[in-house]
Amino acid sequence: MMSLVTVGSVAFDAIETPFGKTDKIIGGAGTYIAFSSSYFMKKQNIVSVVGEDFPQEMLDKLTDKGVNLEGLQIKEGEKTFFWSGKYRNDMNSRDTLVTELNVLEHFDPIIPDSYQGCEYLMLGNLSPDVQLKVIERMEKRPKLIAMDTMNFWMDIAMDDLKKTLKKVDILIINDEEARQLSGEYSLVKAAKVIRDMGPKYLVIKKGEHGALLFHGENTFFAPALPLEDVFDPTGAGDVFAGGFVGYLASSDDISFENMKRGVIAGSAMASFCVEKFGTERLENLTKSEIEGRIQKFVDLTNFKMD
Ligand code: AMP
Repeated sequence: MMSLVTVGSVAFDAIETPFGKTDKIIGGAGTYIAFSSSYFMKKQNIVSVVGEDFPQEMLDKLTDKGVNLEGLQIKEGEKTFFWSGKYRNDMNSRDTLVTELNVLEHFDPIIPDSYQGCEYLMLGNLSPDVQLKVIERMEKRPKLIAMDTMNFWMDIAMDDLKKTLKKVDILIINDEEARQLSGEYSLVKAAKVIRDMGPKYLVIKKGEHGALLFHGENTFFAPALPLEDVFDPTGAGDVFAGGFVGYLASSDDISFENMKRGVIAGSAMASFCVEKFGTERLENLTKSEIEGRIQKFVDLTNFKMD
Protein backbone atom coordinates (compact mmCIF):
# COMPACT_ATOMS: atom_id res chain seq x y z
CA MET A 1 0.00 0.00 0.00
CA MET A 2 1.27 3.47 -0.91
CA SER A 3 1.96 5.94 1.87
CA LEU A 4 1.58 9.69 1.95
CA VAL A 5 3.43 12.21 4.10
CA THR A 6 1.86 15.63 4.54
CA VAL A 7 3.61 18.70 5.88
CA GLY A 8 1.63 21.81 6.69
CA SER A 9 0.43 24.16 9.39
CA VAL A 10 -1.85 22.89 12.13
CA ALA A 11 -3.45 26.04 13.39
CA PHE A 12 -6.01 28.18 15.11
CA ASP A 13 -8.00 30.33 12.69
CA ALA A 14 -10.46 33.17 13.20
CA ILE A 15 -12.61 33.71 10.14
CA GLU A 16 -15.01 36.37 9.03
CA THR A 17 -17.30 35.92 6.04
CA PRO A 18 -20.38 37.89 4.95
CA PHE A 19 -22.39 35.12 6.68
CA GLY A 20 -20.73 35.03 10.05
CA LYS A 21 -17.69 35.16 12.21
CA THR A 22 -15.86 32.55 14.25
CA ASP A 23 -13.74 32.76 17.38
CA LYS A 24 -10.62 30.64 17.35
CA ILE A 25 -11.41 27.41 15.54
CA ILE A 26 -9.11 24.66 14.35
CA GLY A 27 -7.59 25.12 10.93
CA GLY A 28 -4.25 24.88 9.22
CA ALA A 29 -3.21 23.60 5.83
CA GLY A 30 -1.92 20.32 7.29
CA THR A 31 -5.18 19.71 9.12
CA TYR A 32 -7.32 20.28 6.04
CA ILE A 33 -5.08 18.18 3.79
CA ALA A 34 -5.03 15.31 6.27
CA PHE A 35 -8.81 15.24 6.70
CA SER A 36 -9.34 15.32 2.96
CA SER A 37 -6.77 12.70 1.98
CA SER A 38 -7.95 10.42 4.79
CA TYR A 39 -10.95 9.54 2.61
CA PHE A 40 -8.60 8.08 -0.01
CA MET A 41 -5.67 6.75 2.03
CA LYS A 42 -5.66 4.34 4.95
CA LYS A 43 -2.05 5.08 5.76
CA GLN A 44 -0.90 8.64 5.98
CA ASN A 45 1.44 10.66 8.07
CA ILE A 46 1.71 14.27 9.16
CA VAL A 47 4.75 16.43 9.90
CA SER A 48 3.90 19.60 11.79
CA VAL A 49 4.09 21.46 15.08
CA VAL A 50 1.59 22.84 17.59
CA GLY A 51 1.83 24.53 20.99
CA GLU A 52 0.58 23.13 24.26
CA ASP A 53 -2.63 25.13 23.79
CA PHE A 54 -3.77 22.82 20.98
CA PRO A 55 -6.75 20.61 21.96
CA GLN A 56 -6.13 16.88 22.29
CA GLU A 57 -9.69 16.30 21.07
CA MET A 58 -8.75 17.48 17.58
CA LEU A 59 -5.64 15.30 17.52
CA ASP A 60 -7.86 12.36 18.45
CA LYS A 61 -10.18 13.14 15.53
CA LEU A 62 -7.22 13.02 13.15
CA THR A 63 -5.98 9.77 14.68
CA ASP A 64 -9.47 8.31 14.25
CA LYS A 65 -9.21 9.13 10.54
CA GLY A 66 -6.02 7.08 10.29
CA VAL A 67 -3.60 9.99 10.40
CA ASN A 68 -0.28 9.09 12.02
CA LEU A 69 0.79 11.96 14.30
CA GLU A 70 4.26 10.67 15.17
CA GLY A 71 5.78 13.58 13.23
CA LEU A 72 3.62 16.20 14.97
CA GLN A 73 5.67 18.02 17.60
CA ILE A 74 3.91 19.51 20.63
CA LYS A 75 5.95 22.38 22.06
CA GLU A 76 5.53 22.92 25.75
CA GLY A 77 5.10 26.52 26.86
CA GLU A 78 4.56 27.68 23.27
CA LYS A 79 1.57 28.81 21.26
CA THR A 80 0.05 27.27 18.15
CA PHE A 81 0.23 29.15 14.83
CA PHE A 82 -2.66 31.61 14.52
CA TRP A 83 -4.17 33.05 11.36
CA SER A 84 -7.14 35.33 10.86
CA GLY A 85 -8.78 36.29 7.60
CA LYS A 86 -11.76 38.15 6.27
CA TYR A 87 -13.59 37.35 3.03
CA ARG A 88 -14.94 40.01 0.73
CA ASN A 89 -18.53 39.84 -0.47
CA ASP A 90 -17.67 37.77 -3.56
CA MET A 91 -16.18 35.09 -1.22
CA ASN A 92 -13.44 34.54 -3.79
CA SER A 93 -11.00 37.06 -2.37
CA ARG A 94 -9.92 37.55 1.20
CA ASP A 95 -7.60 39.65 3.28
CA THR A 96 -5.31 38.26 5.92
CA LEU A 97 -5.87 40.18 9.15
CA VAL A 98 -3.37 38.43 11.43
CA THR A 99 -0.55 35.92 11.00
CA GLU A 100 1.12 34.90 14.26
CA LEU A 101 3.77 32.33 13.43
CA ASN A 102 4.39 31.29 17.07
CA VAL A 103 5.63 27.66 16.99
CA LEU A 104 6.12 27.86 13.22
CA GLU A 105 8.80 30.52 13.57
CA HIS A 106 11.57 28.13 14.60
CA PHE A 107 10.05 24.88 13.38
CA ASP A 108 12.60 22.18 12.69
CA PRO A 109 10.72 19.31 11.02
CA ILE A 110 11.52 15.81 12.24
CA ILE A 111 10.81 12.89 9.93
CA PRO A 112 10.16 9.74 11.99
CA ASP A 113 11.79 6.56 10.68
CA SER A 114 8.36 5.12 10.02
CA TYR A 115 7.72 7.88 7.44
CA GLN A 116 10.85 7.08 5.43
CA GLY A 117 10.25 5.42 2.09
CA CYS A 118 6.90 7.16 1.52
CA GLU A 119 6.02 7.36 -2.15
CA TYR A 120 3.94 10.54 -2.03
CA LEU A 121 4.85 13.82 -0.34
CA MET A 122 2.48 16.75 0.00
CA LEU A 123 4.17 19.97 1.06
CA GLY A 124 1.27 22.02 2.39
CA ASN A 125 1.43 25.72 3.03
CA LEU A 126 4.22 26.57 5.44
CA SER A 127 7.62 28.24 5.18
CA PRO A 128 9.46 27.17 1.99
CA ASP A 129 12.59 26.65 4.06
CA VAL A 130 10.80 24.00 6.15
CA GLN A 131 9.34 22.45 2.99
CA LEU A 132 12.86 22.13 1.57
CA LYS A 133 14.19 20.61 4.80
CA VAL A 134 11.51 17.94 4.61
CA ILE A 135 12.51 17.03 1.05
CA GLU A 136 16.16 16.88 2.06
CA ARG A 137 15.41 14.73 5.09
CA MET A 138 13.70 12.05 3.03
CA GLU A 139 16.31 9.32 2.56
CA LYS A 140 14.73 8.28 -0.73
CA ARG A 141 13.08 10.80 -3.01
CA PRO A 142 9.32 10.18 -3.09
CA LYS A 143 7.76 9.27 -6.42
CA LEU A 144 5.71 12.48 -6.42
CA ILE A 145 6.30 15.71 -4.53
CA ALA A 146 3.41 18.18 -4.60
CA MET A 147 3.56 21.62 -3.08
CA ASP A 148 1.34 24.53 -2.09
CA THR A 149 2.37 28.02 -0.99
CA MET A 150 0.85 31.48 -0.61
CA ASN A 151 1.44 35.21 -1.07
CA PHE A 152 2.69 35.52 2.53
CA TRP A 153 5.79 33.44 1.67
CA MET A 154 6.27 35.15 -1.72
CA ASP A 155 6.41 38.47 0.14
CA ILE A 156 8.96 37.46 2.76
CA ALA A 157 10.84 34.41 1.43
CA MET A 158 10.87 34.45 -2.38
CA ASP A 159 14.48 33.20 -2.62
CA ASP A 160 13.77 30.17 -0.42
CA LEU A 161 10.56 29.57 -2.31
CA LYS A 162 12.42 29.44 -5.64
CA LYS A 163 14.89 26.93 -4.20
CA THR A 164 12.09 24.67 -3.04
CA LEU A 165 10.21 24.99 -6.34
CA LYS A 166 13.21 23.48 -8.15
CA LYS A 167 12.73 20.25 -6.19
CA VAL A 168 9.03 19.57 -6.66
CA ASP A 169 6.99 17.87 -9.38
CA ILE A 170 3.73 19.72 -9.02
CA LEU A 171 2.72 23.09 -7.65
CA ILE A 172 -0.88 23.71 -6.58
CA ILE A 173 -1.72 27.40 -6.11
CA ASN A 174 -4.55 29.84 -6.75
CA ASP A 175 -4.82 32.33 -9.61
CA GLU A 176 -3.77 35.34 -7.55
CA GLU A 177 -0.70 33.49 -6.30
CA ALA A 178 0.18 32.32 -9.82
CA ARG A 179 0.09 35.93 -11.01
CA GLN A 180 2.22 37.15 -8.12
CA LEU A 181 4.77 34.35 -8.52
CA SER A 182 5.14 34.75 -12.29
CA GLY A 183 4.55 38.47 -12.74
CA GLU A 184 2.19 37.57 -15.60
CA TYR A 185 -1.53 38.36 -15.71
CA SER A 186 -2.45 35.73 -18.31
CA LEU A 187 -2.66 32.40 -16.52
CA VAL A 188 -1.37 30.61 -19.62
CA LYS A 189 1.75 32.78 -19.61
CA ALA A 190 2.01 32.46 -15.83
CA ALA A 191 1.90 28.68 -16.16
CA LYS A 192 4.86 28.74 -18.56
CA VAL A 193 6.93 30.97 -16.31
CA ILE A 194 6.16 28.89 -13.22
CA ARG A 195 6.95 25.60 -14.91
CA ASP A 196 10.33 27.02 -15.89
CA MET A 197 10.94 27.49 -12.15
CA GLY A 198 10.87 23.72 -11.57
CA PRO A 199 7.49 21.97 -11.29
CA LYS A 200 6.58 20.11 -14.48
CA TYR A 201 2.95 20.01 -13.47
CA LEU A 202 0.94 22.98 -12.28
CA VAL A 203 -2.57 23.31 -10.90
CA ILE A 204 -4.10 26.77 -10.74
CA LYS A 205 -7.21 26.95 -8.58
CA LYS A 206 -9.74 29.62 -9.38
CA GLY A 207 -12.10 29.26 -6.45
CA GLU A 208 -15.72 29.13 -7.58
CA HIS A 209 -14.45 29.16 -11.19
CA GLY A 210 -12.78 25.77 -11.04
CA ALA A 211 -9.21 24.64 -11.58
CA LEU A 212 -6.70 24.28 -14.41
CA LEU A 213 -4.07 21.57 -14.76
CA PHE A 214 -1.03 22.20 -16.98
CA HIS A 215 1.62 19.77 -18.19
CA GLY A 216 3.71 20.10 -21.34
CA GLU A 217 1.31 21.03 -24.13
CA ASN A 218 -1.68 19.62 -22.24
CA THR A 219 -4.25 21.62 -20.33
CA PHE A 220 -7.27 20.31 -18.43
CA PHE A 221 -10.06 22.33 -16.87
CA ALA A 222 -12.40 21.24 -14.09
CA PRO A 223 -15.33 23.39 -13.02
CA ALA A 224 -16.28 24.01 -9.43
CA LEU A 225 -19.71 22.73 -8.47
CA PRO A 226 -22.28 25.54 -8.51
CA LEU A 227 -23.34 25.52 -4.85
CA GLU A 228 -26.34 27.26 -3.39
CA ASP A 229 -24.60 28.07 -0.12
CA VAL A 230 -20.96 28.82 0.41
CA PHE A 231 -20.31 29.60 4.04
CA ASP A 232 -16.57 29.56 4.39
CA PRO A 233 -13.97 28.95 1.67
CA THR A 234 -11.13 28.61 4.21
CA GLY A 235 -9.15 25.47 3.62
CA ALA A 236 -10.81 24.71 0.28
CA GLY A 237 -7.43 24.95 -1.45
CA ASP A 238 -5.84 22.54 1.01
CA VAL A 239 -8.76 20.17 0.85
CA PHE A 240 -8.44 20.22 -2.94
CA ALA A 241 -4.74 19.35 -2.60
CA GLY A 242 -5.48 16.58 -0.08
CA GLY A 243 -8.11 15.03 -2.32
CA PHE A 244 -5.90 15.36 -5.39
CA VAL A 245 -2.80 13.80 -3.85
CA GLY A 246 -4.84 11.25 -1.89
CA TYR A 247 -6.50 10.13 -5.11
CA LEU A 248 -3.18 9.84 -6.98
CA ALA A 249 -1.54 7.97 -4.13
CA SER A 250 -4.44 5.56 -3.64
CA SER A 251 -4.47 4.70 -7.34
CA ASP A 252 -0.65 4.92 -7.55
CA ASP A 253 -0.81 6.39 -11.03
CA ILE A 254 0.74 9.76 -11.87
CA SER A 255 -0.14 9.90 -15.55
CA PHE A 256 -1.77 13.07 -16.89
CA GLU A 257 -5.03 11.13 -17.48
CA ASN A 258 -5.15 10.09 -13.84
CA MET A 259 -4.23 13.58 -12.69
CA LYS A 260 -7.41 14.77 -14.41
CA ARG A 261 -9.39 12.40 -12.21
CA GLY A 262 -7.38 13.65 -9.24
CA VAL A 263 -8.39 17.22 -10.03
CA ILE A 264 -12.05 16.15 -10.00
CA ALA A 265 -11.60 14.26 -6.73
CA GLY A 266 -9.94 17.34 -5.20
CA SER A 267 -12.68 19.63 -6.51
CA ALA A 268 -15.38 17.36 -5.07
CA MET A 269 -13.72 17.38 -1.64
CA ALA A 270 -13.33 21.17 -1.76
CA SER A 271 -17.04 21.54 -2.53
CA PHE A 272 -17.83 19.92 0.82
CA CYS A 273 -15.33 22.04 2.71
CA VAL A 274 -16.99 25.36 1.87
CA GLU A 275 -20.44 24.25 3.06
CA LYS A 276 -19.60 24.74 6.76
CA PHE A 277 -17.14 26.73 8.82
CA GLY A 278 -13.72 25.20 9.44
CA THR A 279 -13.23 21.45 9.21
CA GLU A 280 -16.78 20.60 10.35
CA ARG A 281 -18.06 19.27 7.03
CA LEU A 282 -14.95 17.16 6.49
CA GLU A 283 -15.01 15.29 9.73
CA ASN A 284 -17.76 12.79 8.94
CA LEU A 285 -18.22 12.30 5.21
CA THR A 286 -19.31 8.96 3.83
CA LYS A 287 -17.96 7.13 0.83
CA SER A 288 -21.30 7.38 -0.97
CA GLU A 289 -21.53 11.14 -0.36
CA ILE A 290 -18.12 11.54 -1.97
CA GLU A 291 -18.93 9.27 -4.89
CA GLY A 292 -22.20 11.14 -5.41
CA ARG A 293 -20.37 14.45 -5.52
CA ILE A 294 -17.82 13.16 -8.01
CA GLN A 295 -20.69 11.97 -10.21
CA LYS A 296 -22.19 15.47 -10.09
CA PHE A 297 -18.96 16.80 -11.59
CA VAL A 298 -19.11 14.23 -14.34
CA ASP A 299 -22.74 15.14 -15.10
CA LEU A 300 -22.02 18.86 -14.97
CA THR A 301 -19.65 18.78 -17.91
CA ASN A 302 -20.86 15.78 -19.85
CA PHE A 303 -22.60 16.53 -23.13
CA LYS A 304 -22.94 15.15 -26.62
CA MET A 305 -22.79 17.25 -29.74
CA ASP A 306 -24.11 16.03 -33.05
P1 AMP B 1 -6.56 28.00 2.16
O1 AMP B 1 -7.91 28.59 2.44
O2 AMP B 1 -6.61 26.70 1.47
O3 AMP B 1 -5.63 28.96 1.52
O4 AMP B 1 -5.90 27.67 3.57
C1 AMP B 1 -6.26 28.29 4.76
C2 AMP B 1 -5.42 27.75 5.89
O5 AMP B 1 -4.06 28.15 5.71
C3 AMP B 1 -5.87 28.28 7.23
O6 AMP B 1 -6.45 27.25 7.98
C4 AMP B 1 -4.60 28.84 7.87
O7 AMP B 1 -4.39 28.36 9.17
C5 AMP B 1 -3.49 28.43 6.97
N1 AMP B 1 -2.50 29.50 6.76
C6 AMP B 1 -2.74 30.81 6.56
N2 AMP B 1 -1.59 31.50 6.43
C7 AMP B 1 -0.59 30.60 6.54
C8 AMP B 1 0.84 30.67 6.50
N3 AMP B 1 1.47 31.85 6.30
N4 AMP B 1 1.54 29.54 6.65
C9 AMP B 1 0.91 28.36 6.85
N5 AMP B 1 -0.43 28.21 6.91
C10 AMP B 1 -1.18 29.31 6.76
